[in-house]
Amino acid sequence: MSATATAQRVFNFSAGPAALPLPVLQQVQEELLCLPGAGASVLEISHRGKVFVDIIESAESTIRSLLGISDDYAVLFLQGGAALQFSMIPANLLRGTDKTAQYLLTGSWGKKAFAEARKEGKIEAAYDAKDSNYDHVPSASDYTVRDDAAYLYYCSNETIQGVQYDAEPPCPASVPLVSDASSDFLCRPLPIDKYGIVYACAQKNAGPAGVTVVVIRRDLLDRGSENLPGYLNYNNHAAAGSMWNTPPTFAVYVLGKVARWLADDIGGLDAMEKQNREKSQLLYDVIDAHSDFYKGHARAGSRSMMNVTFTLPSDELQSKFLASAADHDLSSLKGHRSVGGIRASIYNAMPREGVESLAGFMKDFASKNG
Ligand SMILES: *Cc1c(COP(=O)(O)O)cnc(C)c1O
Repeated sequence: MSATATAQRVFNFSAGPAALPLPVLQQVQEELLCLPGAGASVLEISHRGKVFVDIIESAESTIRSLLGISDDYAVLFLQGGAALQFSMIPANLLRGTDKTAQYLLTGSWGKKAFAEARKEGKIEAAYDAKDSNYDHVPSASDYTVRDDAAYLYYCSNETIQGVQYDAEPPCPASVPLVSDASSDFLCRPLPIDKYGIVYACAQKNAGPAGVTVVVIRRDLLDRGSENLPGYLNYNNHAAAGSMWNTPPTFAVYVLGKVARWLADDIGGLDAMEKQNREKSQLLYDVIDAHSDFYKGHARAGSRSMMNVTFTLPSDELQSKFLASAADHDLSSLKGHRSVGGIRASIYNAMPREGVESLAGFMKDFASKNG
């Protein structure tokens, strides 16, 4: 990357597609015209050739080793984003059964998934945080799971509300636990054995738009009926090593590089989690120290390490905050229209110095305008 292009890069707090690690972008740039050994760009080669097969296998094995995923699980690279999983999960695990799928609703993405599942069978909100405007996750005593539920679904990090679970919600062993981890996948270690399915679109915390990672316990693969459209059947993708049709080759390639960066440069997911906790704490400390000026959306105990959401005393101050932040090279801080206020998305790729810069700006802004 030219020195000018690098220098023009701002601290990008976009919720997604979001910042990627600079060393990954630099490698992609270096290799873009000619992938070593391929004689062509990664954008120009067959997904069935050895060069790409090595790329997808290495992306899978790096993700497996980062998360400690055993062979009891398949790792799939699919298209259609998280949104397709809203339908694919109930199409495979609920359609045609008498069972009920239960959902824990803690924000916008869980609600969307719930609405799509309704088309496939019986569903039930085991918990719905709407009365408090989705500012927290439930505790174990707040909901009951049926022993024969088709699955228990939750969203580990609600990107729009900035509400995150700090551990898996309790779920009986007979019920597959399903998680939308789109905006916190690879932000910390995960006990994969507790899950039936964990999935994540890549464009928040793991890579570029275009690929969705699905980690699925193998005994769930053949739940889908043969009458499902082929693309919607998990079994087809698992049997074909994510090559049932053309996978999103470029996105898988970049995702693989991000995973390598996590393993080699960061030192794995324990180290990444430590950094993420410290980064988010810098912002929550400012919010708490200026609680008459900044109001955090999420309750303590449910605060996200990835998306820090808060409001200011007035819309005017919010607009002023955004404009003034942009002047300090702090970009894309506007909250989602459904919650308003400010959202600082501080995914893995956001360097600590970006968060320090925002924290300093927030202190300054509060003391000048409070
Ligand atoms: C962004 C996001 C989605 C939607 O992803 P698409 O790839 O646009 O379908 C779903 N769930 C969560 C938690 C998200 O952050």
